[in-house]
Amino acid sequence: TTPPGLPLRVDGLVKKFGGVTAVDGATFEVEEGSLTGLIGPNGAGKSTTFNCITGVHEPTAGHIYFKDEEITGLDPYQIARKGLVRTFQIARELGEMTVLENVMLAPKNQLGESAIRSVTPWLRGAVVEEERALRERAWEMLEFFEIDHVATEHAENLSGGQRKLLEMARALMTDPEVVLLDEPLAGVNPTLEEKLLERIHELREDGYTFLLVEHDMDVIMNNCGHIIVMHQGSVLAEGTAEDIRNNEQVIEAYLGE
Ligand code: ADP
Ligand code: MG
Repeated sequence: TTPPGLPLRVDGLVKKFGGVTAVDGATFEVEEGSLTGLIGPNGAGKSTTFNCITGVHEPTAGHIYFKDEEITGLDPYQIARKGLVRTFQIARELGEMTVLENVMLAPKNQLGESAIRSVTPWLRGAVVEEERALRERAWEMLEFFEIDHVATEHAENLSGGQRKLLEMARALMTDPEVVLLDEPLAGVNPTLEEKLLERIHELREDGYTFLLVEHDMDVIMNNCGHIIVMHQGSVLAEGTAEDIRNNEQVIEAYLGE
């Protein structure tokens, strides 16, 4: 089991796709309240690791623990319900809905309809109250990410950066403890990037835990207290930005890219 203070632990994770070994024995831990960076050259296995943690892929071998509980091989909605979520790109069908609707629908999409129904009381008045509370929380989330002024816009009309903010807002609607971010800053302009990073730091100070995959090395080095480097499906090195910058093996792995 996982000691307290370790909301996420990955132990000997292996994922094979036919003859391709995408993840090859990755082992690492993520500390509570941290913003941990997960980096590595293209094809290192970062996204596959995320997909295994969040239940999108079933691992070939290894174990994943969320707090004191093994979650290996559970379905995505079961994992999300426990408090571990990832951001998802806004699917096409959601683009035709408004930004507010997208955020209000997020818990339903991520937790599965049955989970929502199970917490929704049968009394009509209570259902209305539930809806009102959901709407209120959605508004708070839009305000927090400063996209409340586009609440009634169709999601497909947002800029790339606004879309990323919406994806974060959606993930947080499930009230998670750990949030996995796979390249949340891709296509985001510098102003919005700064805003998004500020929000992440605020949330982290509130006790949320983040695991971040990001291509921009400066973003990782300047924002992550702990950095894990993957190479060829396993963990090559980990430590502070300083440790990573000076690690010979890391330098070599990236030079080969
Ligand atoms: P990263 O996110 O670090 O760039 P990925 O996890 O996407 O790396 O990919 C790791 C390796 O696994 C790559 O060689 C990639 O081609 C392969 N891979 C990833 N997903 C699949 C899949 N669904 N089917 C086959 N091979 C895959
Ligand atoms: Mg990837």
